Amino acid sequence: MKYEPVIGLEIHVELKTKSGMFCGCPADHFAKKPNTGTCPVCLGLPGALPTPNKKAVEWTIMLGLALGSEIAEVSKFDRKHYFYPDLPKGYQISQYDQPLCRGGKISTSFGDVRIHRVHLEEDTGKLQHAVVDGKKVTLVDFNRSGVPLVEIVTEADIHSSEQAKEFLKKLHQIVRYLGISDADMEKGSMRLEPNISIRKVGETGMPPYKVEVKNINSFRFAAAAIEYELKRHEALLNEGKIPVQETRGWDEAKNGTVSQRSKEEAADYRYFPEPDIPPMRFTKDVIASIGSNIPELPDVKKTRFMSAYALNDAVASQLTDTRALADYFEEAVKAASVFEKPYSPKEVANWLINKKPDIEKVLPAQLIEELHEAKKVVAVSADELNAIITPVLSSNEKAVADYKAGKQQVIMFLMGLVRKQLPKADTKIILEALKGALES
Ligand code: MN
Repeated sequence: MKYEPVIGLEIHVELKTKSGMFCGCPADHFAKKPNTGTCPVCLGLPGALPTPNKKAVEWTIMLGLALGSEIAEVSKFDRKHYFYPDLPKGYQISQYDQPLCRGGKISTSFGDVRIHRVHLEEDTGKLQHAVVDGKKVTLVDFNRSGVPLVEIVTEADIHSSEQAKEFLKKLHQIVRYLGISDADMEKGSMRLEPNISIRKVGETGMPPYKVEVKNINSFRFAAAAIEYELKRHEALLNEGKIPVQETRGWDEAKNGTVSQRSKEEAADYRYFPEPDIPPMRFTKDVIASIGSNIPELPDVKKTRFMSAYALNDAVASQLTDTRALADYFEEAVKAASVFEKPYSPKEVANWLINKKPDIEKVLPAQLIEELHEAKKVVAVSADELNAIITPVLSSNEKAVADYKAGKQQVIMFLMGLVRKQLPKADTKIILEALKGALES
């Protein structure tokens, strides 16, 4: 029996705003001393009032616009209740039925993946399991509590682990182009949760179950978790069983997933509107002005590079990987155009890709200067040429005889020997001098 995967993704991205989602604590929490960046608001102390971070709201709208989402004219925050020690208030401020953005898509080579919604919420604290005074304890660090967090939810349009990976890479690239997050997966600033089920090929409805795999921190693990689940579901369905609807975790050591808990339904969270934050309204002008800050996005840039600079798909993809590299390339193209005989964008692209300079240290103009040095033709006199050609010919009698017998291609072999000693001389001049010497 043939099955096909039906996969949706939920992605959490921490925004790199200066301050928290609802307080003035630093949003940069990575590797800081535990519980040094906290206040009554993000610690959930009684009476503390949240104030939404304007930049975080604008950046979420910007991301929505970049993904082609519909931006809400009215949006609000809601309380999502659950009990866990890293959540001091007993609820997370999130968005329920009026998210900032709905719809949109990212195109992949396997087909479009539609975006269901994009909403804004706050991150939770972090638990640390440790041994203190010989006792196993769990410590809580609230530095991450209240950091602005964007959640992107896709439709279940993904049908392979490769497609999931491609989608995630593109989303990661867009987020970084927008400059709203480092989306560094090792630091947990981008976290991936696939929802996975399978159905018989030919069926079009949603399968009667789905399994969510939580908090994956690399594209490779996301693909591996999907592959693992697909096999597990197939085995169960072949036995006539339906996989249990649940949340599982990725276990790196086991290279597989493990059951964590049964999946909550929305009703379990007792969502209700956050009474301390009034609804937000956005005029068309405000949305348009946020949209005007969106830079040229990766797909558009890549297409432009291909047509403006006559680059192929692979080279254009490589050069538009990050905005910094793309900008660097364009600066280098400018620097290469000032020479009497300008270097083509293609030559610049190849040089850049082969040399892999540290673009934070080597200026584009310096890189082009190196290219120019390497390609520089040095003038040589006839005497200098003959002083090299004569001994080459006398020590390669067989090649010379072959040439004279009509095997003209040996001239390239001799040319190579001369070129070794005159790496910067003009090819045509060497060739003519060599022919002259062979035929005299
Ligand atoms: Mn969330």
